[in-house]
Amino acid sequence: MSLADIAARIDRALAAAGRPPGSVKLIAVSKEQPAERVQAVLEAGHRLFGENRVQEAAAKWPAWRERFPGVAVHLIGPLQTNKARQAMGLFEAIHSLDRPRLAETLARLAQDLGRCPDLFVQVNTGEEPQKAGVLPAEADAFIARVRQLDLPLVGLMCIPPADEEPSLHFALLAKIAARNGLAGLSMGMSGDFERAIALGATHVRVGSAIFGARGLRPGAAAATAPET
Ligand SMILES: *Cc1c(COP(=O)(O)O)cnc(C)c1O
Repeated sequence: MSLADIAARIDRALAAAGRPPGSVKLIAVSKEQPAERVQAVLEAGHRLFGENRVQEAAAKWPAWRERFPGVAVHLIGPLQTNKARQAMGLFEAIHSLDRPRLAETLARLAQDLGRCPDLFVQVNTGEEPQKAGVLPAEADAFIARVRQLDLPLVGLMCIPPADEEPSLHFALLAKIAARNGLAGLSMGMSGDFERAIALGATHVRVGSAIFGARGLRPGAAAATAPET
C-alpha cells in the first residue's frame, strides 16, 4: 500500500457513497514510524498527519514543519491535563476531548493564548471500560458543556472495539453528531476507512496502510504491529 493507493481508495469510496470528491481528509498517522517513511510521504506532498503522543510529536514535528510549509498535525491519542498547554502549541486539532476537566483547562488556556486547536469530542461508542471517550448516553450533555465554554468544537471521534463490526459504531457516531449539529466525523482507520466514508466520515486516520507496520527502531515493527 502507499499514499497514492489510499487516496485512490478514498476517492472510490466517496464516489460509491455519492459524496463529493475531496469531502474527506486523510490523516496520515505517523506515530511510531521511522523518520524516512514519514519524510517520503511529506516529499510526496502530503501535509496532514496524526500523532497519539504529545512527547513524540514535540520531538518530531518542529523540524519537519520548518522544511515542509503547510504541515498540520492532529492529536488523535489521549491528552493529560498537564500536557494541555504544550499540546495547544503543537497541534492544529485535538481529537480526544473526553472529560469536563480537560475542556475547562483548554478553555482557560485558549483565553490565555488567544487561540485554540479545532476540537473533536471522543465518544466511547463500544462502552469499553479501558477505552477513553464519553459514553454515548453522556455525549449530548458533554457537547453542550464544551459549547458553553466557547471552545471550537468541530466534530466527534470514535475508535470502535477491535472485535465488532465498525459500521455500527460509525453509524452511532454519525447519529450523535447529526442531532448535535456537528459536521466533523473522525472515524475509520486502515482496516475500515471505506466503511467509515460510506457512513459520513470527514476525517479518516490511516497509519499502517500508508506507512507499513509501526516500530521506530528498524526491525522492531513485529513487536508493535497495529491491532487492526
Ligand atoms: C494508531 C491509530 C490509528 C491508525 O491505525 P492504523 O490501523 O495503523 O491505520 C488511528 N486512530 C487512532 C486513534 C490511533 O491511535
